[in-house]
Amino acid sequence: MKIITSAKELQKEVLKYREEKKSIGFVPTMGYLHEGHMSLVHHARKENDLVIMSVFVNPLQFGPNEDFDSYPRDFERDERLAKNNGVDIIFYPQVEEMYKDTFSFHVKVLNKVNVLCGQKREGHFDGVATVLIKLFNITQPNRAYFGMKDAQQVAIIESIIEDFNFPITLVPVDIVREEDGLAKSSRNVYLSDQERNEAPQLYEALKRAKSLVEQGEYDVRTLQLAVSEHISKHTSGEIDYVEILNYPELEPIQVLSGKTIIAVAVKFTKARLIDNITFDIKHINN
Ligand code: AMP
Repeated sequence: MKIITSAKELQKEVLKYREEKKSIGFVPTMGYLHEGHMSLVHHARKENDLVIMSVFVNPLQFGPNEDFDSYPRDFERDERLAKNNGVDIIFYPQVEEMYKDTFSFHVKVLNKVNVLCGQKREGHFDGVATVLIKLFNITQPNRAYFGMKDAQQVAIIESIIEDFNFPITLVPVDIVREEDGLAKSSRNVYLSDQERNEAPQLYEALKRAKSLVEQGEYDVRTLQLAVSEHISKHTSGEIDYVEILNYPELEPIQVLSGKTIIAVAVKFTKARLIDNITFDIKHINN
């Protein structure tokens, strides 16, 4: 496994593989790897000749009062995990390599950002879009792998690929969970013991909503209330949002129809957790 820190060097390397007609799978991450990230790697490993993973905590996607400085980092561990799981190249740039002082552009996402994390984290998806446009140009993948844990991100990346004509297939990968249902996340290490015990209730609340849908409840307000009440009753966290939208358009709805996302964000003392479920109402058995 190679570790490359320079964008130019990686582009040169990628060109070699492209000339040999080898397919490239790309897995962007912010590091502090867990089984969620590894699931993306496993999919990429199966479907491509070469797997490139980036490890970059992107300052542009963190707001002024967010956790950029305290975001967990452990590159040696990441390196070991990536190697053991079949990554061929890790792209590990410094911030200065990605954003030169002379950077003269600002990418602004116009659609799908006035809801969920886009509404709560101003500018977050502008930062995500900026780094991904750069990373796509640096790694020139055939396929790029993203977790449904960040479902709004997946929806927005669909638009980036479409609008900027990237010849890349987006591969969404299911959420990987702990045994008790908590979605794996690098930020889970910041939960206190009590919060860690409560955190699986986010998924319990989502499952409860889905079972109400299965019983015929299609009213968004009623479902939203059921999720909020469950989280308030069973956790000490502060609800940031509980939203039910169509997916991947991310438009508000009053009554369920077609593909739907139920998404939550909950603030605990040192970590803000997100989770969601997506389903197609046409495939619900009721
Ligand atoms: P991050 O390092 O948090 O930016 O995540 C990098 C990629 O891994 C993103 O596409 C995430 O959606 C994905 N990811 C993070 N956690 C999970 C999880 N529990 N299951 C599946 N994918 C995940």
